[in-house]
Amino acid sequence: MTPLYDERRNGVPRESRVQRFDAIVIGGGLVGAAIAYGLVRAGLKVALLDEGDIAYRAARGNFGLVWVQSKGLGAPHYQRWTRLSAEEWPGLAAGLRAHTGIAVGHERPGGVHLCLSEAEFAARAAMMARMQREAGNFGFEYRMLDRKEVADLLPGLGPAVVGASYTPYDGHANPLALLRALHRSFVMGGGRYVANSRVEAADAAPGDFRLTAGAEEIAAPKLVLAAGLGNAALAPRVGLAAPVRPQRGQILVTERARHLLPMPTTTIRQTVEGGLMLGDSQEDVGFDTGQNPAVMQVIARRAALSFPWLGALQIVRAWAALRIMPPDGLPIYDQSERCPGAFTANCHSGVTLAAAHARALAPMIAKGALDPMLDPFSARRFDVPAAA
Ligand SMILES: Cc1cc2nc3c(=O)[nH]c(=O)nc-3n(C[C@H](O)[C@H](O)[C@H](O)COP(=O)(O)OP(=O)(O)OC[C@H]3O[C@@H](n4cnc5c(N)ncnc54)[C@H](O)[C@@H]3O)c2cc1C
Repeated sequence: MTPLYDERRNGVPRESRVQRFDAIVIGGGLVGAAIAYGLVRAGLKVALLDEGDIAYRAARGNFGLVWVQSKGLGAPHYQRWTRLSAEEWPGLAAGLRAHTGIAVGHERPGGVHLCLSEAEFAARAAMMARMQREAGNFGFEYRMLDRKEVADLLPGLGPAVVGASYTPYDGHANPLALLRALHRSFVMGGGRYVANSRVEAADAAPGDFRLTAGAEEIAAPKLVLAAGLGNAALAPRVGLAAPVRPQRGQILVTERARHLLPMPTTTIRQTVEGGLMLGDSQEDVGFDTGQNPAVMQVIARRAALSFPWLGALQIVRAWAALRIMPPDGLPIYDQSERCPGAFTANCHSGVTLAAAHARALAPMIAKGALDPMLDPFSARRFDVPAAA
């Protein structure tokens, strides 16, 4: 257990024992790793503390989409932020490859959402039209494809597919390679990774955050809470709010097949290695990470309706993991008013937003102020008393 250093309760630490950093990031999942990597790129000396294998870790159980087309209905600022990330993704992937040699498998061929009934198609068409209206001058390029157009794009389409929505913005990546590359680049850039270091909440002073990591005391003028579901408990201790809840998702993976799918769909994608990933449910079951055969059947059945040839492939792996879900599904970013220098970052799309976190959010944190473009993402929108 690593208590956040409490000056009043514990007394002033012996300064000779204190390791000083420019920033401490709590949480080494995709959100924390992307921000920590971005802070090192911005020239900061950074410590990244991570709880370890017993923690809930969405970064190790996700589907790997870099997905834009359904983000931000009724919230065009979220569509803009997601699009910014999608634009930054090629630079992120290239930078990580150049620095670490790790290919994160990013591709951006566009993506489709398959509709399995006329009612689904009509609802999707209405949603996409509304997204375009709300985008205004920013624009939102999409097409509703009829069955024949989808069949021309995606071989072996099932007869149940009525049509699809398509946007050119969507893509996918290997999320485990991404996590590894972010961590490796962070350490190669001089960052200090402290594993198995769970941080407990306590008091902190404005612009002066101190905590113990293992045998050491560490201090920094900036603190970033990126602990996924752990943020809910940590945030109020530094005048922030992160009212996130778990949402379970289950994923199935088939044996490898020859490359057939040229682009991902919302729930089916083929990895670079050839395996087909089938996903992913949205279940409100608290912190239960168990698998549910009934839900797995629904995922498999819908996938086989979309592409009957999938039925001939063996399922070789399946798992469940917990998303980090804010009340309205939109990210939460804040700097604390009570403890300036303390920031929080929370979202349920940490693969998609990794490039925005590394290349846009981290530079803002390095400068000490979030850009006004992120104002709508403050937890103040929930009217939470503890919010910044
Ligand atoms: C089934 C599923 C499918 C998904 N599919 C996609 C997708 O296709 N595309 C996409 O963009 N996103 C997807 N996601 C979401 C994505 O996985 C997460 O947004 C991403 O993992 C970022 O999470 P995070 O870093 O905030 O949290 P996590 O990955 O949970 O990491 C939090 C880290 O904080 C550490 N921690 C927690 N508490 C403490 C503490 N007190 N002290 C120190 N460390 C602590 C933990 O050890 C953990 O490593 C999916 C998620 C799931 C579950």
